[in-house]
Amino acid sequence: MIGGDKNWTGKEVVIPAVLPCRQCWICKTGRGNRCLAQKMPGNSLGVYGGFSSHIVVPAVDVCPVPDRKGVPLEKLAVVADAVTTPYQAAMRANLRPGDNVAVIGATGGVGLYMTQVAKALGAATVVAVDIDAEKLKRSLEFGADAAIDAKGKSSKDVGAEYKELLKIRGLPNYGWKVFEVSGSKAGQETALAMLGFVGKLVIVGFNMDKVEYSVSRLMAFDAEIIGTWGCLPEYYPVVLGMVLNKAVKIEPFVELRPMSSIKDTFNEVRKAGSPKKRVVLTPDF
Ligand SMILES: [Zn+2]
Repeated sequence: MIGGDKNWTGKEVVIPAVLPCRQCWICKTGRGNRCLAQKMPGNSLGVYGGFSSHIVVPAVDVCPVPDRKGVPLEKLAVVADAVTTPYQAAMRANLRPGDNVAVIGATGGVGLYMTQVAKALGAATVVAVDIDAEKLKRSLEFGADAAIDAKGKSSKDVGAEYKELLKIRGLPNYGWKVFEVSGSKAGQETALAMLGFVGKLVIVGFNMDKVEYSVSRLMAFDAEIIGTWGCLPEYYPVVLGMVLNKAVKIEPFVELRPMSSIKDTFNEVRKAGSPKKRVVLTPDF
């Protein structure tokens, strides 16, 4: 390390995906994760160098890794974004122990952490919804209490199946916190079909499609639809703690590859879509 804050020399850290300016009104009112002057390391919106061996970032934002308990540091890279985004979404939804939660897109690269984070925060029930039967089955070992396979079904059908599930399990049909993580139109339609009385729908995934919804239902349901973006650096130590105490498991879902495989890895992802495990590229030296 050349220059900078000497206190950090030789220390292991996780660099948050979103670095707020800490000066503006948004930051000062506690919403810095959506600061308009924020920097995103490794992204054209901020600091270039996400694939380089060194990158310059503000010391105030980095999250120290005191004792990683045998987990390779490289694997903790997924804390930035994949695990912290669900945590921020949970905070936006004011998730409390005992809450009932549904996750749409529950088996994807962010969804599988949304499920685990919700459970780690004390959710009473987590219902996983997705379109991959095999991965849904696995989600039951990682935070989900019930799974709904939405493959080939309309949002209305999935909504009906969900209501049936609540009846069978004797669960309330109100107050659910629904997290839409798939970022697909079908997922959003399903999430809206599942939003009920005094419920909250949190939009975590993104797409450019438009969906139709009678917003008057929000009035009738006294319900909310909320968006969420990134995660405050202040939450990183808490999320890292959840990962290191295994309340949120990352190791089965992360694969390390050498940086020299970057071209093949990108081609593979372009051709086949999301890989089974999230790939972390590490410097070859
Ligand atoms: Zn700001």
